[in-house]
Amino acid sequence: GIPVIAIDGPSASGKGTVAARVAAALGFHLLDSGALYRLTAVAAIKAGVALDDEAALTQIAAGLDVRFADGATWLAGEEVSDAMRSEAASVGASKVAVFGGVRAALLGRQRAFRQAPGLVGDGRDMGSVVFPDAALKVFLTASVEIRAERRYKQLIEKGVSANLESLSQDLRERDERDRNRAHAPLVQLPDALLLDTSSMSADAAVRFVLDAWRE
Ligand code: C5P
Repeated sequence: GIPVIAIDGPSASGKGTVAARVAAALGFHLLDSGALYRLTAVAAIKAGVALDDEAALTQIAAGLDVRFADGATWLAGEEVSDAMRSEAASVGASKVAVFGGVRAALLGRQRAFRQAPGLVGDGRDMGSVVFPDAALKVFLTASVEIRAERRYKQLIEKGVSANLESLSQDLRERDERDRNRAHAPLVQLPDALLLDTSSMSADAAVRFVLDAWRE
């Protein structure tokens, strides 16, 4: 079958950066699965749907009209590249992601990214649910302090005002929701390689994954 590298881990662990660079190095496709949960939240907020209304959220997830082009993301014809990266979308994503209906609605869309010559998938359940047959599974993590700092720097660089304390609090809450939900909780699989990037550069993390892949 078409090979998949599954990279899972908590929020702001650097998965997105590492996944994108590994995919580029191998010429593989890239699935940023968190984007689909973020887009579901953004679409729900736009439609005035409550983030605890599973039936309505499932419909929104199933009907997402998304286009990814030239590094930008469009939702029903409207560019949402920045909106989907906002803290509101992050928190919203982790809320809509607890629902089994929403997750099931996004499953086929995620699996469709599996195309030759291969795929790197980044998320929480790439190795456990979406691509359980992945050729390589990585659990990428870092301490909550380091993750909050990295997120803080990203926002500041983008010119978005941010508060380290509240970012750290948000991260803890999202982690907790991701780890304790009934459907596809974030787990460190026994067959996943553990990669703690707390004191590791992105370069080193990318090299680690590529070395593991080539072995
Ligand atoms: O990875 P990212 O931070 O963009 O994901 C946003 C939220 O979407 C996560 O906090 C998590 O709750 C949810 N998510 C998920 N399963 C995935 C990817 C993301 O539940 N595969």
